Amino acid sequence: MMNIETEPSILFKVPKFVVPQSCALYARISEDDGRALGVERQIEDLIAWCARNGWTIGDTYIDNDISASTLSKATRPNYERLLADVESGIRDGIVVVNLDRWTRRMRELVDFLEWLNGPGRNVPFRTLAGDDATTPDGRMVMHIKGAVAQQEAERISLRSKRERMQSREKGLYRSSGVPFGFVKVGIAKDATFEPDPQTADFVREAFNLFIGGENTKAIVGRFQRSPYPAPSGNAYWHYQSVRKILRNGVYAGLLIFKGEVVGTATNVIPVIDEPTFRAAAAVFSGRAGRAAMPRKYLLNGLVRCGVCGAKCKAYAASTYTQGGRVNKRAAKWACPPVMFGGHNCTARNYSAVEDYVDGIVRDAISQEMPEPEESTTTDDDVQAGIAVVGLEQRIAATRAAYASGDLSGADFFPLLSDLRDKLNALQAAQSRATALRAKRRTAPAADVAMEVWISDDPELFAKRREIVERYISQIVIMPLGGRTGNKLPAPETHLHVIPA
Ligand SMILES: [Zn+2]
Repeated sequence: MMNIETEPSILFKVPKFVVPQSCALYARISEDDGRALGVERQIEDLIAWCARNGWTIGDTYIDNDISASTLSKATRPNYERLLADVESGIRDGIVVVNLDRWTRRMRELVDFLEWLNGPGRNVPFRTLAGDDATTPDGRMVMHIKGAVAQQEAERISLRSKRERMQSREKGLYRSSGVPFGFVKVGIAKDATFEPDPQTADFVREAFNLFIGGENTKAIVGRFQRSPYPAPSGNAYWHYQSVRKILRNGVYAGLLIFKGEVVGTATNVIPVIDEPTFRAAAAVFSGRAGRAAMPRKYLLNGLVRCGVCGAKCKAYAASTYTQGGRVNKRAAKWACPPVMFGGHNCTARNYSAVEDYVDGIVRDAISQEMPEPEESTTTDDDVQAGIAVVGLEQRIAATRAAYASGDLSGADFFPLLSDLRDKLNALQAAQSRATALRAKRRTAPAADVAMEVWISDDPELFAKRREIVERYISQIVIMPLGGRTGNKLPAPETHLHVIPA
């Protein structure tokens, strides 16, 4: 018989728990069950329990006003953070008021218990209701309670769905929270939603800017800079929360169900009028149409910063407010900030770049247009050939003069280098002309290319891009050197186009 004294760890896989030195308190408020236990109360009770049991508190994790029910898709950021902290060893114990507060998703509870008892994890999980995940019996009870809680959550969800439907039929707006820009006056079913004197104007302005063409990013920025905190305890205003406002019919006193206006709320005093809301909705639907195709810039990836070499990014036109005045910022190509791989070195007006490239591409296409008469050797070629031979002869003669002592070094070297430069330039021009002729012979109908190029049919985007790439490999934005005026100097001085 095996001696259990010497091999205890094999027979008794009950881990030895030490008293937590940095435990996690988890609390959550959810109004969907109508008997919400305030977060402060939960935390107070948890602190008292820790004091009684000698657990040292590391941190509190609070998910506010977010349903943990089976049907809710809401995420719980602090629940996730807590699990991550336990995983990384920062927290060595978890305590929560009851399993309801922890989760109502059976699946989540099962996964959690499995994870908690996984190898190498030695973290006690307790509830004030007496649940203890450190023993097999305790875990079984938790499974049963979890199943009951899930059933309860489903029942509640059905009930509140039914209630919401009844409210809609009565023309009542119902919300567990208070939408930004409103205040809730009165309680429970008699509550009315009225514009908040503090924030309603801000919402109105956001709607007006939005329907006036301001982009969402700029509006999100305004919310972020405002003194008003982001909803549901977020540190920042996100696109999502701003969009939620701009798409929410309640600001116009409308009841919306599944994206359709189903009536007018009798318990809401609107912040904006209905046409404003409809205009905003129209902007969204217009955007949704465009969003199906990702935003495309013809020169994406071809524009480079002339200082650091980073790929430049296209920035759409925007507006900003300064001293109460709305200013326009033109669209531009710019060296992006560090997080996008650049250093904010250079920026150039978007249309200035486009126009310049357009000119170059048009020239290049015209060059390929079939010539009236085809001849393999042009007069230009003959002239160039004569010039090359002439230069070569002059170089030879100069060399001879230097060798025989007729020409001093001081005269010879500059002269030679000048002649060489001329010769190189001429030869380069000759080879370009030859290459161009080769291209002309093989180029697909250049007149078709020109038609495609000047069309603004979005369907032809890929073809237009092909055309650019045929002629241009890069457009390099050079610094302007401290100029601040609006008028740009000639493009070739600050835009370097590198041919393909
Ligand atoms: Zn740069």
